[in-house]
Amino acid sequence: MMAMMKNSDFRILIIDDNVAIHEDYRKTLALKDLADKNLLELESELFGDSRPEVQTENFNIDCALQGREGIDMAIRAKNEGRPYAVAFVDGRMPPGLDGIETIRELWQACPDIQVVLCTAYSDYSWRDVQKMLGESDSLVILKKPFDTVEVVQLAHALTRKWALDQEIQGRLHKLAFYDGLTGLPNRTLFLDRLEMVLQMGKRHGQAGALLFLDVDHFKRINDTLGHKVGDHLLKLLSQRMTACLRATDTVARLHCQDVIARMGGDEFSVILPCLEQPDEATTVALRLAEQLTQPIDVDGNQVSLTTSIGITYFPEDGNDVETLLKNADLAMFNAKHKGPNAVMFYQESMNIAVMKRLTMENHLRQAIMRNEFSLHYQPQISLSTGQLIGFEALLRWNSPELGAVPPLDFIPLAEENGMIVTIGEWVLRTACAQARSWIEQGLPLQRMAVNVSLRQFLHNEFTQIVSQVLVESSLAPEQLELEITESMIMSDPPGVIRTLHELKDQGVQIAIDDFGTGYSSLGRLRDLPIDCLKIDRSFVKGISMGMRHEPILNAVMIMAAGMGLRVIAEGVETQEQVDFLRTCQCPEAQGYLFSRPLNDADATSFLQENRQF
Ligand code: C2E
Ligand code: MG
Ligand code: MG
Repeated sequence: MMAMMKNSDFRILIIDDNVAIHEDYRKTLALKDLADKNLLELESELFGDSRPEVQTENFNIDCALQGREGIDMAIRAKNEGRPYAVAFVDGRMPPGLDGIETIRELWQACPDIQVVLCTAYSDYSWRDVQKMLGESDSLVILKKPFDTVEVVQLAHALTRKWALDQEIQGRLHKLAFYDGLTGLPNRTLFLDRLEMVLQMGKRHGQAGALLFLDVDHFKRINDTLGHKVGDHLLKLLSQRMTACLRATDTVARLHCQDVIARMGGDEFSVILPCLEQPDEATTVALRLAEQLTQPIDVDGNQVSLTTSIGITYFPEDGNDVETLLKNADLAMFNAKHKGPNAVMFYQESMNIAVMKRLTMENHLRQAIMRNEFSLHYQPQISLSTGQLIGFEALLRWNSPELGAVPPLDFIPLAEENGMIVTIGEWVLRTACAQARSWIEQGLPLQRMAVNVSLRQFLHNEFTQIVSQVLVESSLAPEQLELEITESMIMSDPPGVIRTLHELKDQGVQIAIDDFGTGYSSLGRLRDLPIDCLKIDRSFVKGISMGMRHEPILNAVMIMAAGMGLRVIAEGVETQEQVDFLRTCQCPEAQGYLFSRPLNDADATSFLQENRQF
């Protein structure tokens, strides 16, 4: 870029109180056309001047008679985006500022400008100047009277130095404030702009919005198509977003500069300053989502994506950078959970929900150590004999701080943060030990069912843990039934099927829990190594309620029998339901009608009573 610059690209400012000297500079540096040049050659022939013969300088020269005037000109030039590269400043310019004072102010306004201080020998020494102006590599002292060659050389050298400085600064600025991949502003610049927008908003009473946008499951793209494709995709997405922002600007907002930035990874952020109507932000968000979900061709791969967008408004939701970032992030997080392709606004209640979650998470971390978990056991009854066959172990958490927390509240949380792996292992160990103990007491228990979550099931040590627990408790593998849900099979078929086969090889029984609520068909389950279907409570509930569930249940029983699967009907609460289940040959049932889940002692009594239903 440097090599392309001509002298005429550089502006030089002369500050000197002597008009005649202005002319000298002009003649030396600002030769504009051939006429000038001829005149000069004539001049030198006539007067035998020492001027170099061939002068092709063509600098852009402006002159000021006083320091103040020069400083004003420099500021104006900078604001117009046409800054001066070099200033030649006279040492003495009565009655106004002297050279040193002028340079000091000049640098305050334009720190990049290169300066030549022109002084008579007696005026200042280099030491004096350094003392007064501080050390600088942007200053040269030229002693009067000077040779024009010196002026030309300095003009050349200093304009090039200035250009190089500008270029380096530009590159450093780009490196520091822009994202190398997409060329969008980075987080640092974004935060700076947000701060500026908020300040302006406060001053002029303007409202605005902050958008957080995250591409859903972007990791999958990287994992399946590779990082190169992933990077290219991010580039294309940022181009789409930039174009979309321009296109969605309403006339009223044309003068406001929206800022879009890459915050890192697949996360982008947009500032929409000076919003007239809050729904303008929604419009922008929806258009962005719409644009980004259009199928996109990346290096020959057709990719379809969805996004999650969170929106927060200022000043309503907050008026400082930190609060707004937190709000937008929370809204985006909620959008992710609601997704795909959801747009969510920040709401105060999100904070409360997060606080609750954090509190629960903190207590949950200590729950195992503090012995706050227990298991309850719900009887499973054979409908042909009317007697107990097994128990399902159900986890209970009694927290001193939060009270009894239902499993459906804390298990999803434990699944998300991974604690379920440890908790689940505790459940398995405890349930198997308890089962063994009852069996050893000669009580009529044939099977213990334990619920397993996806995270636990896919953990690479799961099957090892199961076999280890079986050895420790000396429970026979076929006495343990693991319950997995239908949706688990759908979410990661290869992983789940691999584990299923490993467990099957050990001889452990597998039940599909909540059957009928997922999307799988019996046909899909046919090839899986499973033993039992647990018909979801919602189907049982529909019996004799005119919901036409009976034919479905009938068909499921027939097909399951054909496939050699056992069936347990869950959530049986009425005798009517039992009667119907018996007529369609349902082998087993479980529900409040027989018993609620029982603690250790009550479960022991239940076994001892050996009631017949
Ligand atoms: P699930 O495995 O389907 O367990 C059956 C749930 O239905 C239990 O709720 C049980 O108390 C309830 N239930 C049983 N009979 C009836 C009935 O007749 N009527 C009604 N209305 N409800 C009945 P619970 O104990 O609240 O457990 C809820 C869910 O939490 C379980 O559903 C299971 O998915 C999960 N869960 C419980 N313990 C564990 C565990 O140790 N590990 C894992 N991963 N999940 C567990
Ligand atoms: Mg279950
Ligand atoms: Mg169930």
